[in-house]
Amino acid sequence: MNLIFLGSPGSGKGTLAKLLSSALGVPHISPGDILREEVKQNSELGHMALPIMKKGDLVPDEIILKMMKKRITQADCLGGFILDGFPRNRAQAIGLDEMLSGLDRSVIWTLQFEVSDECALKRLGGRRICSVCGADFNLFTKPPKNSDICDICGGKLLQRADDTDEVILNRLKVYRQETLPLEEYYKRQGKLIRINGELEAEVRLTEALKALGK
Ligand code: ADP
Ligand code: ZN
Repeated sequence: MNLIFLGSPGSGKGTLAKLLSSALGVPHISPGDILREEVKQNSELGHMALPIMKKGDLVPDEIILKMMKKRITQADCLGGFILDGFPRNRAQAIGLDEMLSGLDRSVIWTLQFEVSDECALKRLGGRRICSVCGADFNLFTKPPKNSDICDICGGKLLQRADDTDEVILNRLKVYRQETLPLEEYYKRQGKLIRINGELEAEVRLTEALKALGK
């Protein structure tokens, strides 16, 4: 099952993508995670992407398309995948359709999650991630026992460089201008499923599985 997750920053699509990925047994593919890993590795791609990500702008389409093609053509994607954060504009959506039709495949469903800006700011501004095990915390909704230490492994908790108020606001603006028009793109193809992003993750998982007939 080839799925796309569409949703603003802070809509909780990453959290749900991870849950649905284990429920369906298909890989969770996040270009944001791939790019952050490239930054960590100090690769050429990471070097190029870092200043763009720090501002919350979009990395150029050709680079993203090449990166995603490399990932989607790996063997573990043969049974399906969840794309979390791609496509992010019309050019990427068209590029994805072309890429998939070349592989004799297509997008099956697009799951869209919407939340208020207020909810997005709270989720992103309060987000803390363990630098060792990757566990997610939130100072408002899922606080760690000690403000900067992981409950699970004792690792140091960090804030993502683009989770500051100013950059969050730009990410929301870029989402509205570039990504939200894809709602219409997939709706016209009869592939859009809407889920309330403000619901608890477990409730959203149940809703998503029901909508997908699972
Ligand atoms: P969020 O959706 O919460 O903003 P992501 O982890 O999906 O966070 O993305 C982080 C950053 O990585 C984006 O702000 C952007 O700079 C870059 N990025 C991720 N996906 C794409 C994409 N499909 N096209 C262009 N840039 C991207
Ligand atoms: Zn940890």
